[in-house]
Amino acid sequence: MSNPAFNTQLIARHPRLAARVMKTTTPHGEFLTPHFMPVGTRAFLNYLTPADLVQTDSQIILGGNTYHMLLSPGLEVIQALGGMHKMMNWSGAMLTDSGGYQVFSLSKNSKICQINEEGARFKHPINGQIIHLTPHSSLEAQKVIGADIIMAFDQCTPDTLDKALVQGAMDRTHRWLLQSKAYQEKHPHSVYGFPQALFGIIQGSYFRDLREESARFVTSLDLDGIAIGGETIGYDMQKTVEIIQWVQPYLPQDKLRYTMGVGLSPQDLIDVVAEGIDMFDCVAPTRNARHGALYHGHLIEENGWLRFESDMENARIQIKKSLYAKEDQPILNGCTCYTCQHHSRGYLHYLFKTQSLAFSHLACIHNIHVMQHTCQTMQKLILGH
Ligand SMILES: [Zn+2]
Repeated sequence: MSNPAFNTQLIARHPRLAARVMKTTTPHGEFLTPHFMPVGTRAFLNYLTPADLVQTDSQIILGGNTYHMLLSPGLEVIQALGGMHKMMNWSGAMLTDSGGYQVFSLSKNSKICQINEEGARFKHPINGQIIHLTPHSSLEAQKVIGADIIMAFDQCTPDTLDKALVQGAMDRTHRWLLQSKAYQEKHPHSVYGFPQALFGIIQGSYFRDLREESARFVTSLDLDGIAIGGETIGYDMQKTVEIIQWVQPYLPQDKLRYTMGVGLSPQDLIDVVAEGIDMFDCVAPTRNARHGALYHGHLIEENGWLRFESDMENARIQIKKSLYAKEDQPILNGCTCYTCQHHSRGYLHYLFKTQSLAFSHLACIHNIHVMQHTCQTMQKLILGH
């Protein structure tokens, strides 16, 4: 699939590890990997404006979940407002998901959502309207959303030991991927005329032979990038790293690699980048921020790679603790984020205790900044300066 508006170049490789730096050009600007994508579930990031995101050096975002966008504000509104880039006033690169993960979560209750060979069928939670999400309709929706990278609709596999169930979901994901690719070849542009890149998703849960089979199938299709999905990815980091190691030999060097839902902590990014992953998204940094868990630690270089070292439990400060009430120092000494440059732990503790919305804003800036700083430090190390 030749896609001149979506150009990915391998810039540098780590001499010992699979880590690399890739430069990608999209119709909405460039981004350099490794890169963390902040998640705007509903076409906005809670407590952060696009200007805040630029300040945290975010060059690509997950601009909205297709499932949530279908429910509200709906595709007609998004199209009337000129697509998600214009609607959000985000001028950088953007990725959207296919709705597969949300449908998977809903289908745990068969009264709400059923999945069959056609796709998923569910009831709108507010107006009761029946919605069909299929490989075709998911892509159609993503053409209206207008992101630069769109995802093929998949059946996310649960964390289960039932191999037949996992194989069934994987085979269906592969059939759906063929449908998605055929649709994309006929309609390579968003409704606004911009070319879009299509990524496929490797499934297979925690079965090595299935993950390898899925990797062989997905990489045989000449897509623009390869994602690794499933319930395990990002939640169980030991298994996540093992799964990446299984599929890595099949992944082409010149395509972007994306682990979906990785980024509970800065160390998680370091661990998957070491295995050759380029991009990731996770709601945890902003969710943790809102709950007063602020990333705290320093990147230590060791044997040519990095470690996020902290003397705090889980590498986070729990700002609600009374011991911070009178502390005049920033969350993290040396952090160049707006919050650490302007406010003390004591002030943030006070804002948290008074349930000020300003707290969530300042806390999200810090946590996203730490994730992007971790990515930039990995880039510099791989580039050798
Ligand atoms: Zn900071």
